[in-house]
Amino acid sequence: MNLILLGAPGAGKGTQAEIISDRLQIPTISTGNIIREALKSGTEMGLKAKAFMEAGQLVPDEVVIGIIKERLAKDDCQKGFILDGFPRTIPQAEALDKMGIVIDKVIDIEVKDEAIVKRMSGRRVCEKCGASYHMEYKKPAVDGVCDRCAGTLVQRKDDHPDTVNARLEVYHKETEPLKDYYAKQEKLSVVEGQATIEDTTALILKAVEA
Ligand code: AMP
Repeated sequence: MNLILLGAPGAGKGTQAEIISDRLQIPTISTGNIIREALKSGTEMGLKAKAFMEAGQLVPDEVVIGIIKERLAKDDCQKGFILDGFPRTIPQAEALDKMGIVIDKVIDIEVKDEAIVKRMSGRRVCEKCGASYHMEYKKPAVDGVCDRCAGTLVQRKDDHPDTVNARLEVYHKETEPLKDYYAKQEKLSVVEGQATIEDTTALILKAVEA
């Protein structure tokens, strides 16, 4: 099963991707996490992406397309994968098609902008493994510590309010047209993402199994 999770930043793609990935036993590929890793290790790609990311802008298509091409060629993707945060533009979606990657389903998680802004301010991520938490909706067992790897939980720079607004603007302009793109291919399922994490997971699994 080759899946794409679509939705605004903060719609819960990362959290849902982790859960669905466990259930279906297929890897999640998050371009955001790959770029943050590259930034941490100071690679050339990380340095190129830094300014775009911190300003809430998209990293250029050719950079992220290169990342995805390399990642999808690895063995663990052969029986399926979940894309979280890719594609984010029409040229990125076209690049997947050109690579001959067949996408089975695209799940769009819908959350209103006001709720997104509220969510993002409470979001924390593990510095070490990238797992995501929320100070209200998905608390770790121990404050500030990752349940999975005991890493420190931090607020992403791009989750600060000004940057969140910039990211939402970019989402509506560049990413939202993908809904139409995949609706035309009859692959799109729209899922309500404002209820609990469990409710959203149930809706996603239902859409995946349909
Ligand atoms: P995310 O963790 O998915 O919200 O991604 C964080 C940031 O990484 C985004 O705001 C972009 O700057 C960059 N990024 C991640 N994925 C992509 C993508 N597919 N296209 C362009 N930029 C991306």
